[in-house]
Amino acid sequence: SLRCGIVGLPNVGKSTLFNALSDAGADAANFPFCTIDPNIGVVPVPDKRLDNLYEIVGSEEKIPTSVEFVDIAGLVKGASEGKGKGNAFLSHIREVDLIVHVVRCFDDENVIHVEGDVNPTRDVHIIEDELILKDLESVEKRLESLKRDAKSGEKEDLKRMEVVQRLKEHLENGNAARTFDAKEEEQQAYRELFLLSDKPVLYACNVSEDDLDSGNQWVDEVQEIADRFNDEVVTFCAKIEEEIAELDEDEKQAFLEELGVESGGLERLIRAAYKELGLITYFTTGPKETRAWTVRKGAKAPEAAGVIHSDFERGFIRAETVSYKKYKELGSEKAVKNAGEMRQEGKDYVVQDGDVMLFRFNV
Ligand code: GDP
Repeated sequence: SLRCGIVGLPNVGKSTLFNALSDAGADAANFPFCTIDPNIGVVPVPDKRLDNLYEIVGSEEKIPTSVEFVDIAGLVKGASEGKGKGNAFLSHIREVDLIVHVVRCFDDENVIHVEGDVNPTRDVHIIEDELILKDLESVEKRLESLKRDAKSGEKEDLKRMEVVQRLKEHLENGNAARTFDAKEEEQQAYRELFLLSDKPVLYACNVSEDDLDSGNQWVDEVQEIADRFNDEVVTFCAKIEEEIAELDEDEKQAFLEELGVESGGLERLIRAAYKELGLITYFTTGPKETRAWTVRKGAKAPEAAGVIHSDFERGFIRAETVSYKKYKELGSEKAVKNAGEMRQEGKDYVVQDGDVMLFRFNV
């Protein structure tokens, strides 16, 4: 499943958020909660469409998709040089699909700020710089080994070296790797470096309860930073998330309404993560189970089928498809068919968010 790494300076609310997320995961009935590693929490993705579809069809089981959150603590100033917990967590970052960067956007004199005061721009750059410095180390190492290899004078090696050299300068100027402009033929040399500052980032602004619906000037600051690379921003209140995690569904809705927000932080966080990564959800449904699946936006029907099983992709014939909206409106599969709304789609069909799909395939 999708793996998100939570980073941020000390005392910004990472653990509070992580614990709230883990509780939400642990509370979900019949969900294989991961207890092996205390720093990893598996959370079912909340999706009202899945809930409704499950009700309409009356399936035995409802199976959401899941997201994994990894608590990557200890990223402090000087971490790239081994300060704090040192380099261990940097390798954790290498394994995630998305970095969730928690930024302190609340004022509370009882909670010490490691840098003295609330200043999101400075904080974000401290973390980003550590990642860039670590990347610079990787790039310099690669450059050395390329220099050794290049003695043979292979044209390929020289080209590689040129790319890596340019990347080094890019990083030295304080730029994240993901703003590096690698040409088509340079992609390989770039990708094999597995750089940390290449990862997509979702900024999670931890605000006080009062600022939850309105935001504040610190959130605006983070938004400005995020806009550089078209990154997503969510506002949440870690303290509130902690409280929400304890409530049942009805209590939760009432509480959120009182706060003036539509959905809990977890839901907004995951929605933003999907958006940042260009992911969508489609559904399969039947008497046995109603289930949500995650697929890349722009994926064609066979690729979506492949998410379920590689055989489905290999033997793909066609997909019977209807949008969730239509399905809900008409109320049953039979009604969908009677209304002539069940579409037969071939291998070039681009799957849409919320599609309800049935795959026909050869084995
Ligand atoms: P971490 O070091 O980033 O993991 O931060 P923690 O989650 O341990 O939080 C540090 C301190 O800030 C704790 O005392 C929390 O109770 C407090 N804290 C976390 N989130 C909030 C919040 O949303 N509002 C306020 N006022 N305090 C918070």
